[in-house]
Amino acid sequence: AEWQLADLNKCINSTLNVLDNNLKQKVDIDRQFGQLPKIHCNPSQLNQVFMNLLINAAQAIPERGRITIRTGHKGDSVWVEIEDTGVGIAEENLSRIFEPFFTTRSVGDGTGLGLSVSYGIIRNHQGDIQVSSIVGSGSTFHISLPISPDDE
Ligand code: ADP
Repeated sequence: AEWQLADLNKCINSTLNVLDNNLKQKVDIDRQFGQLPKIHCNPSQLNQVFMNLLINAAQAIPERGRITIRTGHKGDSVWVEIEDTGVGIAEENLSRIFEPFFTTRSVGDGTGLGLSVSYGIIRNHQGDIQVSSIVGSGSTFHISLPISPDDE
């Protein structure tokens, strides 16, 4: 699909609809959506980002756990936060997870491309993606996206 004016909450819901049956087995999904203005974006690209982050979050959760998705609106941008109660990310890996081919999964299990592709998509929207994590407690990915990026 093309660039269009879209509702990010709807975008996230449609990603969740695709994943739901797999995720529900082990994960409680908590949606804390704020009121959002529509943004200029490429929804199919953003779906790919949410897909990557949600699958990573679920994979980080050993038995059962929770993924909390928050959205909000601040000034000229909207933000999305995806928090998991997973294993967390070691300090020495935090700065590397957005690099292409960086993975901690076994050979064949992960390409290490999900987050670098996601990073590229967010940059393509002139947005920003950041992570914070506590080992043994979980990780939070924070995305902010301008409502009207300069291009398209
Ligand atoms: P892949 O999933 O193929 O390894 P990614 O680029 O999506 O590639 O992720 C890179 C690495 O970042 C993962 O191997 C994992 O170590 C770490 N990671 C990403 N998301 C999470 C998360 N929510 N919790 C813990 N570790 C994560």
